[in-house]
Amino acid sequence: MSEAVVVAERFEELYGAAPEGVWAAPGRVNLIGEHTDYNDGFVMPFALPHTTVAAVSRRTDGVLRLHSDDVEGGVVELSLDALTPEADRAWTAYPSGVVWALREAGHTAVTGADIHLTSTVPTGAGLSSSAALEVVVALALNDLYDLGLKGWQLARLCQRAENVYVGAPTGIMDQTASACCETGHALFLDTRDLSQRQIPFDLAAEGMQLLVVDTQVKHSHSEGEYGKRRAGCEKGAALLGVDALRDVAYDELDAALARLGDDEEVRRLVRHVVTEDQRVERVVSLLESGETRAIGPVLVEGHASLRDDFRISCPELDLVVDTALAAGALGARMTGGGFGGSAIVLVDATDADAVTKAVEEAFADAAFTAPRVFVAVPSAGARRVS
Ligand code: ADP
Ligand code: MG
Repeated sequence: MSEAVVVAERFEELYGAAPEGVWAAPGRVNLIGEHTDYNDGFVMPFALPHTTVAAVSRRTDGVLRLHSDDVEGGVVELSLDALTPEADRAWTAYPSGVVWALREAGHTAVTGADIHLTSTVPTGAGLSSSAALEVVVALALNDLYDLGLKGWQLARLCQRAENVYVGAPTGIMDQTASACCETGHALFLDTRDLSQRQIPFDLAAEGMQLLVVDTQVKHSHSEGEYGKRRAGCEKGAALLGVDALRDVAYDELDAALARLGDDEEVRRLVRHVVTEDQRVERVVSLLESGETRAIGPVLVEGHASLRDDFRISCPELDLVVDTALAAGALGARMTGGGFGGSAIVLVDATDADAVTKAVEEAFADAAFTAPRVFVAVPSAGARRVS
């Protein structure tokens, strides 16, 4: 039985009638472009095969009913009139934040919904289960209520839901990736104007694989550290007299750093962001000219910059990268917000098992929790499945 049928049956059990439709939205991995999205810069995510699936029906009575197979607690019933930013600290803030953001943007045609969710996106692993959850709800309501919003517009509304309603200060990358990615491609996204280009990224055809290594580590101070980095980047832009660090030209970086004087911390943050934007553009041009193997060293440079300049790596992520490279990987780096989560490793397909084994052994030797390793195949963005 297909997943859509199982999810629809579960919906019917919960709500007493079949859903009007079933939608899916993926988690994502960021290939390169870390902590650039709140600096108006470049990112390059691709969608995972792992998705959050939603069975949904409309309601006309101002009621929102939510259920997820992935959390305890049964069906949660909310009134649309009572939705208030930052009031809800539970998982339900993500989907109800999307409904709130849609209605706040004038889409008052959305008068309620019954929603049942199930997901294969690992949560809290830096693979953006939160964006998958937001985007699948937004797309379902967009279709059912015929709102006519495009992928990037849904992404903006989902970001607003996460920033304002949930209260998590995140950039636009995750939601755009989940909404707009395409099979066999990475998404080159300019976070300033949201212009995007699909970049062919079909590793299997070239005998390579990209492994995701979920360290299963989540350091509790990560949110505060994110805020500090973000504030430091804003300070750097202000000191340099630019709107955002995106506006520092690559060949003017040294002069810009010199102007920052002895504010060593801000200098390091600025250096990471500006060189990272340049790395994204380098990866784009390598992939577009068919030099896929050559992106490996650029990924490694990106990791060093996150570790040494942005200072958001951790021993587990560094161990993945160092071990994978020593075992013959073509490139590797931490991905996502930092202080845990996942790393990506580019390998020749023939080396995938040996590299995986080396990482697993190194984690066992260090007495770290065993990592979860899987092959990430660039997959489809959000879509209706039935
Ligand atoms: P990430 O996006 O990296 O996975 P976040 O902390 O941003 O991590 O989001 C994870 C949170 O999103 C979970 O703690 C939960 O509240 C919510 N969430 C994600 N997926 C689901 C799901 N399938 N069902 C219920 N809640 C979910
Ligand atoms: Mg998230």
